[in-house]
Amino acid sequence: MKRSSINPISKKQSLELEKRRELKAALIRERGAVCMTCGVRPVFPPISLSHIIPLSRGGKTDRSNAVLECNNCHQSYEKKPETRPVDSIGYKLWLAQKEDEK
Ligand SMILES: [Zn+2]
Repeated sequence: MKRSSINPISKKQSLELEKRRELKAALIRERGAVCMTCGVRPVFPPISLSHIIPLSRGGKTDRSNAVLECNNCHQSYEKKPETRPVDSIGYKLWLAQKEDEK
C-alpha cells in the first residue's frame, strides 16, 4: 500500500472532534448561540466551544468543562484560562458542576 502524502488524523483525534461537534450542537440547542462568558450573540466568526481547563492541561471535552464562546472570549481565555471572569455564566456553571461532583 502506498503511503498517502496527506497526514490522516488519528482515530483518537477524530473521536475528539466528533465529541466536540456534538457537545457544541447540544449546547446551542439548549442555550442558543450566545457567548456564555460575555453574553453576545456573535454572527461572524461563529460561536465556538471553549474548554475551561484546556485539553493541554488535562481538561476534558464534556459538559463540566465546556462553554460556548464568541471568538473574542475564546481568544482571550484560551491561553489564560485563569483570567476567565468568575461571574460569567460559563464559569458559574462549571463551579456548580464541580460542587455537584463532591
Ligand atoms: Zn464572549
